[in-house]
Amino acid sequence: MSKLNGGHNGLYRPHRTFASDRDGFYKGDSAGLHGLTSVPDILAKVEDGGRITYDEAMVLYTQADLLQLGRAANARRQQLAPGEVVTYLIDRNINYTNVCHTDCSFCAFYRHDPNHPEAYVNPKPVIGKKIEETLYLGGTRILMQGGHNDELPWEYYFDLVSWIHQTYPAIEINAFSPSEIDQMVSVSGLGRYEVLKALQAAGLKGLPGGGGEILDDEVRKRVSPKKQRSDGWLDCMHQAHKLGLTTTATMVIGFREEVRHRLNHLQRLRDLQDASLRDFGTGFNAFISWTVQIENTPLERSRFAPEYGATPHEYLRHTAVARIFLDNIAHHQASWPTQGEKVAAVALHMGCDDFGSTMIEENVVSAAGARTAVKCLMSVPEIHRQIRDAGFIPAQRDSSYRIVRQYTADETADAALLPPTELAGPATGNLTNSLRLTVLN
Ligand code: SF4
Repeated sequence: MSKLNGGHNGLYRPHRTFASDRDGFYKGDSAGLHGLTSVPDILAKVEDGGRITYDEAMVLYTQADLLQLGRAANARRQQLAPGEVVTYLIDRNINYTNVCHTDCSFCAFYRHDPNHPEAYVNPKPVIGKKIEETLYLGGTRILMQGGHNDELPWEYYFDLVSWIHQTYPAIEINAFSPSEIDQMVSVSGLGRYEVLKALQAAGLKGLPGGGGEILDDEVRKRVSPKKQRSDGWLDCMHQAHKLGLTTTATMVIGFREEVRHRLNHLQRLRDLQDASLRDFGTGFNAFISWTVQIENTPLERSRFAPEYGATPHEYLRHTAVARIFLDNIAHHQASWPTQGEKVAAVALHMGCDDFGSTMIEENVVSAAGARTAVKCLMSVPEIHRQIRDAGFIPAQRDSSYRIVRQYTADETADAALLPPTELAGPATGNLTNSLRLTVLN
């Protein structure tokens, strides 16, 4: 049994996310590991396709070494998404407003005051131009999200989706994370299901999984006390599954949470997925986790700032355990925007079968200091290179994980999929610079 990070008693003790011996800290042997199945037994169970329990996941999280976890996660990947293909998506994140009253402590994107000089609501022509650029680059989807802006009435959202769908029928609209749906509930007086149903009728294809962060209210109350609680996020996704909307399950680690909070999150996702598959025959099509970025946020100014975030090693361990535990979610995505392409490539050997998207534009995570602030997007040829160098075969997919184009073993991506430099920048964000960076890279 490996000793990692110098944990006492041979137990893995993540050294940044977890303050030692705080109340509730998982204490390994003193917290009841005795009598549970051993690491080799649990790993053998995974190799045989068996479901692991919460307690067994705790044993893996705290006792297995990274390579053991990687082997088991890859076995799980082959059970759920067999083959050597790694997919990616060409899409763009679009933000319709950065005004938000929710004041999450990890957010550098929003402006609380609608009259702040940097506050905005993007008009239709700006959003339309971003979509046209996305289509030009071979994109198939937009992922549209914004703050909780009390100045926007319910009709704004419905009209925006209708207009996009009618003007650009070729683009898939994934928009509005569950907390934004609750914002619409509060301004419309409708229920979650009615809001989602109306948006679907207007052209909405799916919901991004944003706002999941850690689905444990102990953590949510501390880092985002005004935000939707775990039950609300999960119920919104359940209603979306009922309507057959595409959804992803997300998770952000590094809030100084404990292992039990992370496993609570995974347990709640797995339970919901079981219920949705049972009730509606559909559910989350992918799981994506990343590490919190705190630059320019209140967390960076807190006295605990050095304890926020997570190391690449911790991210990879978490990626593998999530793949092993979530035996009912077919696709798992590596996060290059927060981890960089090298760690993301390693994540492909920790059970991930998807390299995410080109991120033609991203303004939320990059505002808090993710690598996107440095290298604002990844070109298709670069994604291909990363996937091939990791030993896999690239394929472009759509938001439902259907293959748009499968590449042969030695086929290269079209040069045309490199973005041209003459595209105009958006009203906000740094697209023009990011495009130049990509061409230069
Ligand atoms: S994370 Fe979302 S809900 Fe929280 S402050 Fe930022 S924009 Fe608002």
